[in-house]
Amino acid sequence: MIIEISNLHKSFKDVKAVDDLSFCVKEGELFAFLGVNGAGKSTTINILSGILPKDSGSVIVCGENIDKQADEVKLRLGIVFQASVLDKRLSAYDNLKSRAALYGISGEKFKKRLGELDKLLGLNDILKRPLCKLSGGQRRRIDIARALVHDPELLILDEPTTGLDPQTRAVVWRVIEELRKSQGLTVFLTTHYMEEAANADYVVILDAGKKVAEGTPHELKSLYAADIVRLYSHLEEAEDLFRSLGYSVCRERGYVDVEIKGTRTATQLITEHSELFDDYEVMKGNMDSVFLRVTGKDVREV
Ligand code: ADP
Ligand code: MG
Repeated sequence: MIIEISNLHKSFKDVKAVDDLSFCVKEGELFAFLGVNGAGKSTTINILSGILPKDSGSVIVCGENIDKQADEVKLRLGIVFQASVLDKRLSAYDNLKSRAALYGISGEKFKKRLGELDKLLGLNDILKRPLCKLSGGQRRRIDIARALVHDPELLILDEPTTGLDPQTRAVVWRVIEELRKSQGLTVFLTTHYMEEAANADYVVILDAGKKVAEGTPHELKSLYAADIVRLYSHLEEAEDLFRSLGYSVCRERGYVDVEIKGTRTATQLITEHSELFDDYEVMKGNMDSVFLRVTGKDVREV
């Protein structure tokens, strides 16, 4: 395990930002930490990266206890904060150079590392320009380069794609994939784009500081998201029949949705009532419906 958090608590006055939170992250995995605004994601990240003191609980990162080895932990992880921490007056190059110097990386060593980061992130055109002249997407690439400059084992990204245009979101995702493939880097990210969470190896959902669900996307979808059989024919008969059989049914113009639990049920319905299934499709529940089910909140509205 590269992160082990047990019974973590953190309050700001009477706000329980993190409330008895426990979870683990495995080495090499893409871990997604989900929750609406104010759920406690950034607070957890700030604690596990040694920036914010906790009230109680235990936090072990890269085998080091953050109470005793905060400096060691900081060397081994890279973090992209929700709000950029770059110096806007400086050029992208100078931002990276001063960051690298903090880790004792300078001269030829810095040049070599910058070359690698350029190859990964495409920085060449933007390095000499002052940060304040860069677009949001360009700045985000420099944020990521900054987090990676000392070649960490664990990359933490706090909402790395929020507010970005689709093109830059795609760049961020390509970079994450490349880093994972080429170096087996562990990536911990928060997001409220559910289609991103669906790519993760493991997901923890947080609500008001508490863990409300965890598992692989497949496990979560099987547990919490109903599948839908959508029938486009024999609407009236289908509605009456499936309602009488106790299914949750929703009739719309042109189709009837029947909520089912798992693909096996769909197969069974199709076989037993084949006369109603002239034209239909089976739709898998997605991470949006998982999130709505476990938090009662629609992630798209926040
Ligand atoms: P998220 O990152 O999931 O949006 P945060 O961890 O930023 O959530 O916030 C969790 C809760 O803690 C929120 O209610 C927020 O208002 C509160 N909070 C976070 N940081 C502070 C702080 N420095 N002082 C007071 N309250 C805070
Ligand atoms: Mg946050």
